[in-house]
Amino acid sequence: LSTTDHIEPHRISVCVRKRPFNKLEITRKEIDVVSIPGKGVLLVHEPKQKVDLTKYLDNQLFHFDYSFNETSTNDLVYKFTAKPLVQSIFDGGMATCFAYGQTGSGKTHTMGGDFTGKQQNSSKGIYALAAQDVFAYMNHRRYANLDLSAYVSFFEIYNGKVYDLLNKKAKLRVLEDERQQVQVVGLEEVYVTTSEEVIKIIQMGSSCRTSGQTSANANSSRSHAILQIVLRRNDRATTMHGKFSLVDLAGNERGTDVSSNDRSTLVETAEINRSLLALKECIRSLGMNSDHIPFRMSTLTKVLRDSFIGEKSRTCMIAMVSPGLASCEYTMNTLRYSDRVKEL
Ligand code: ADP
Ligand code: MG
Repeated sequence: LSTTDHIEPHRISVCVRKRPFNKLEITRKEIDVVSIPGKGVLLVHEPKQKVDLTKYLDNQLFHFDYSFNETSTNDLVYKFTAKPLVQSIFDGGMATCFAYGQTGSGKTHTMGGDFTGKQQNSSKGIYALAAQDVFAYMNHRRYANLDLSAYVSFFEIYNGKVYDLLNKKAKLRVLEDERQQVQVVGLEEVYVTTSEEVIKIIQMGSSCRTSGQTSANANSSRSHAILQIVLRRNDRATTMHGKFSLVDLAGNERGTDVSSNDRSTLVETAEINRSLLALKECIRSLGMNSDHIPFRMSTLTKVLRDSFIGEKSRTCMIAMVSPGLASCEYTMNTLRYSDRVKEL
């Protein structure tokens, strides 16, 4: 909590993270088409092996606030993305961090961490790291007089509907009142006092996310997952002081099988595209300080409405990319989208 440790965040920052090759890609001898030649830079480049890849032959350079290569840890990524935003929620603002990218690019690894392996190999994700810092700030004397309590909620948006991951995927309604305040009716908010408690809740919610094939989806890559850490003031009828929203977005890949007659897949894809488009527009409005935030375009932006308003709101987007040639088209889509978000 030393002041030298604190990086003053931009209103909006956009970063990129390249994941390492997985075992399957190594076995297939996939070509690496992504490199991080310098700070904040990412290059998508010509494959060394000449095949018919005319579409990808150009070298393309992209600029970000930060770029992380395949050796970067969750800790490092956190330090330059979500960590600088923690202070803003103590100052009464809204902080939001998005993980964006195709399915398999590392969104859940970055946000949720990896607890599947052996204990010593497990790595905390941004959810847990942010929770740790929230409690560090809360116990700091600078903020002690605020008399704050922390609460956690965790929910999923699938096909425009909200499901509570902390309450057996109960389907919840989203209401907007006459003052444009948006509320998710009946959303579980769990009072928490330590980061260990938050981690337990995340693990519980995450297993709820991937289980059960009824009503909500069986495939978590088609839904947005939102973890919120809310600070409330004990002395003021628990009014909200600040909120940190950490969002593991649905995979941004287009419906690959366009000829598919599966109506539900088409509806799913259309809904995801619509919400990601709405998100881009809302973040851009925040960046331009615009009064017109098109938050009603999707459920995702509706429930995150608070994130797009206010002097003190801070947003960070982490674009995740896979390294391989096979993913090149998706990677380019991700990079173009992220480019548009920060282009004001
Ligand atoms: P997504 O949520 O975007 O679909 P995942 O986070 O589930 O992708 O990642 C897909 C696989 O790649 C997982 O097995 C995950 O553990 C692994 N992975 C992703 N990013 C990294 C990384 N930076 N380092 C090591 N493994 C990673
Ligand atoms: Mg995922």
